[in-house]
Amino acid sequence: KEVLFSIRHLKTYYPVLGGFFRKQIGTVKAVDDISITVRKGETIGIVGESGCGKSTLGKTMMLLEKPTDGEMIYNFDGHEKDITKLDSKEIFDFRSRVQMIFQDPYSSFNPSKRIFDAFDEPLRVHGYKDPAVRKQMIEKALHMVNLSEEYLHRFPHEFSGGQRQRISIARALCINPELIICDEPVSALDVSIQAQVLNLMKEIQQELNLTYVFIAHDLSVVQYMSDRVVVMYLGKIVEISNAEDLHVQPLHPYTEALLSAVPVPVVSDMPKERIILEGDVPSPINRPTGCPFSNRCPKRMDICSQVEPVLQPYNDKQHFVACHLYNE
Ligand code: SF4
Ligand code: MG
Repeated sequence: KEVLFSIRHLKTYYPVLGGFFRKQIGTVKAVDDISITVRKGETIGIVGESGCGKSTLGKTMMLLEKPTDGEMIYNFDGHEKDITKLDSKEIFDFRSRVQMIFQDPYSSFNPSKRIFDAFDEPLRVHGYKDPAVRKQMIEKALHMVNLSEEYLHRFPHEFSGGQRQRISIARALCINPELIICDEPVSALDVSIQAQVLNLMKEIQQELNLTYVFIAHDLSVVQYMSDRVVVMYLGKIVEISNAEDLHVQPLHPYTEALLSAVPVPVVSDMPKERIILEGDVPSPINRPTGCPFSNRCPKRMDICSQVEPVLQPYNDKQHFVACHLYNE
């Protein structure tokens, strides 16, 4: 499949300021040397606990955060350009191709404005001058999420969480994007509603040949949605695999722990004991030396706290892992 978006050695660092003079006392490496290839029409899942850098990664890919280093090559109809080096006109073009959906759909709507305005304004900004054309685009997007146009004249508070998230999906669809970055799109919803929204997202993807980057802390949700899954820990990728292989044969001890936390085993011969991780996620300012997971890993060895393992291929099926257990 054709490559749509290629992230190369991406770093997004933040200074940590402290003390009376607000001097820099450290650096948070929220995204630390991440490389990901996103292909057209696929869903790439990004999973990890809160604070692992997955949201920062999504925002950096949207240019909502400024990367510290690295390249992000986007395929503009066959012309590859590094989006960190675009001029303002090209950024405008990029923003019509890539949309983002957030966890809390309520916060992304102005409570004092009718839903119609939340749709209409961005379309106007993107140069759709004819109100009749805009109306048509908005109605089409609403129908895709199974809502009728009568909803347009209501206010955000008049909707349930599930309806609001469907509205925010419709708003993202309105402008005909190629890629949607979804950051915890169902985490705020009741479990009974989650599956409906996820299935709707899958149907829409099929119909429009959309590409998704699907970010969530819940591995079962990510596996359900994704073709390939990236597991992140403290700003690093610790494992990448297609969703099925990751389920059948997780390699990294952190992935094993995440999988064992999934309540319903989807595969019957999966081990049932839960792996309880010791300790909390360390502060991203004081990352352990060696393997970032070494202070919590049930399988750590002497080398683990000394040498940082690099991400390397495990087999020829595009399964990669960063762990000393798999070094020859
Ligand atoms: Fe555990 Fe060592 Fe592998 Fe890190 S490198 S995940 S500490 S076994
Ligand atoms: Mg987050």
